[in-house]
Amino acid sequence: MRLNPVAEPIVDSNDVIIASMADAMPPPLLAAVAHLTGELSLLRDDLRFDPTKLLEPNAGYSEDQLELARSLAADALIRFRDAGANAVPEPDHATLLRLIEFATGGPVPEGFLDLLVEELALTGDVRAPDWRVDEIARGKSFTVGIIGAGMSGIAVAHRLQQAGVGIVVFEKNADVGGTWFANHYPGCRVDIPNHFYSYSFAQTTDWPQFYSTQQVLLDYFQSVAEQFGLRKHIRCNTEVLDATWSDGAHQWSVRTRGADGVENTTTVDALVSAVGQLNRPKLPDIPGRETFGGPSFHSAEWDHSVDLAGKRVAVIGTGASAAQFIPIVADEVSQLTVFQRTPPWLLPVDNYQSDVPASNRWLLRHVPAYMRWDRMWIMSRTNEGLLPLAAVDPSWQPNVRSVSAMNDMLREMLTMYYQLAFPDPELFAKVLPAYPPIAKRVVLDNGSFPAALGRDNVTLTTEPIVSINGNGITTSDGQQHEFDVIIYGTGFEASKFLTPMTVVGSNGIDLHERWGGDARAYLGITVPDFPNLFLMYGPNTNIVINGSIIYFSECETHYIVESVRMLLERNAHAMNCRPKVHDAYNEYIDTGNKRMAWGVSDVNSWYKNEFGRVAQNWPYSLHEFWEQTRTPNTADYELS
Ligand code: NAP
Repeated sequence: MRLNPVAEPIVDSNDVIIASMADAMPPPLLAAVAHLTGELSLLRDDLRFDPTKLLEPNAGYSEDQLELARSLAADALIRFRDAGANAVPEPDHATLLRLIEFATGGPVPEGFLDLLVEELALTGDVRAPDWRVDEIARGKSFTVGIIGAGMSGIAVAHRLQQAGVGIVVFEKNADVGGTWFANHYPGCRVDIPNHFYSYSFAQTTDWPQFYSTQQVLLDYFQSVAEQFGLRKHIRCNTEVLDATWSDGAHQWSVRTRGADGVENTTTVDALVSAVGQLNRPKLPDIPGRETFGGPSFHSAEWDHSVDLAGKRVAVIGTGASAAQFIPIVADEVSQLTVFQRTPPWLLPVDNYQSDVPASNRWLLRHVPAYMRWDRMWIMSRTNEGLLPLAAVDPSWQPNVRSVSAMNDMLREMLTMYYQLAFPDPELFAKVLPAYPPIAKRVVLDNGSFPAALGRDNVTLTTEPIVSINGNGITTSDGQQHEFDVIIYGTGFEASKFLTPMTVVGSNGIDLHERWGGDARAYLGITVPDFPNLFLMYGPNTNIVINGSIIYFSECETHYIVESVRMLLERNAHAMNCRPKVHDAYNEYIDTGNKRMAWGVSDVNSWYKNEFGRVAQNWPYSLHEFWEQTRTPNTADYELS
């Protein structure tokens, strides 16, 4: 996959240019064309995005507005081509602000501009470290061990390498890619648009679909590892067994085991865990599960050698993974029974499985920065604006089915979708959730999941499972359901952070004993008594409704890189988070989560740990996390 491609010259005919506007939305289109040509008159008030119309079809734009915007953009591009296609210089601050406000439906909230400018990255790799080890600590070497070569591990490895920091990456799998390497079940794809679910430093115009499939994502992450020269630092088939901090040497000893069973110990100055939250499959604790006579497997360990054609198949679970593979499995098998415990809220997204149209590809390839403005447009639609939909209004009654007037409005909109998608009243009654939207992960849908559940060869069972036996599954009504294959779409051990590794910090303290099943960290990144240990996608860094998790990983990466800088500049060996800072932060997080739909609802979700505490989610704005991770505050740490 080509990363950060150079724009192609505009030499096409008027007809091609006009046709290439066909699918573009006014905010990114007019911002990109005004940016390129300097024709700021394109940023017309009557074509400005109204954020209150976010959830309306075409983001609230009428057909007339769409047509006008597209013809204005085409005319400007034709003039630009005829004048020799000489792009105007990069916009000054005031112009940039005007462009951003147009693309996002501004005004840009206080303090938000710097973040947007960074995300836009118009002038190149603006998030690259502005320091190097040989400049700030000449003659000193510093090596960081990184556990995991998935999305987060690749990001931090790249930035540390740019700063001249030594890196060694341990990857348990046979190749890089993390979740996109491990999950290869049929139908696996991302549910955040790829022009946003991608690194700010590695953009591409090659996404074939808006929401790419697993193979394409794997190609993307492997291309990043390849093209940024990271592969030489990555030890694949190398599982970390344990990591132990030495108070005397101020280093971590990392014990690993290779595919051949040989164990090794590597010593590093700092350690980053980039193992993900959703990497250890969770099989349900159903009596008799081991006794099933036929093949059975988890979605994240899909057994492609099992031929499902003509078989009687059971699927347990109806989360995001199951909703993706059920339509494909339903097509192959003779009979599919889906066991649903809690129905998901489905969020209709028309282009969920659609190709990026040729018109859009032309724009991406020929209008420099359309790629960036399109990303900004997606970001503005999918970030902070959505958070209020999940916020609890304490005066709202009752809060079992919704948590605020806005949340209730969303519930009504989604219910209308269910009425269309599930015309069978019996099925509709089974699938309509009885809990507030966004209390658990919403599942994107373009109609394929409801269509699969409505098929003649598919049965949706809501009767609880009581046991599994040699021939199938018994439900609480005493019925025995016979199957040839059982597929578990039952999720992951999300709250068991960093398992099954053993991590021993200062004074021999064991991380899992410290946590006792209730993982906490400061900023989701550092833990008292575990000096120079940094977590990525750690406790309370999952986002539910706003943003892309790659954004979070880039924020964490920045904080880690700046922490290494702090250690080097201060000639310190170790930074240890102060317990008071950590505890106050966690109180703040808990308070925030209790004000969100996922915090007040008692619905099952992987957002909560065994104590019912939300250990996964970040309840505040994207901007706030960005601000908090700008630079480590020396007062938060004991430096030694
Ligand atoms: P999940 O959301 O945790 O869903 C697990 C499903 O299994 C739920 O329906 C759960 O029911 C059910 N289940 C668990 N134990 C059960 C039992 N003993 N009996 C009956 N049902 C049982 O897992 P997932 O679908 O793998 O998704 C996990 C997360 O991965 C997602 O939320 C998302 O963040 C991510 N993901 C993303 C994508 C994407 O980007 N497109 C795709 C897949 C996954 P309850 O709801 O009652 O617990």
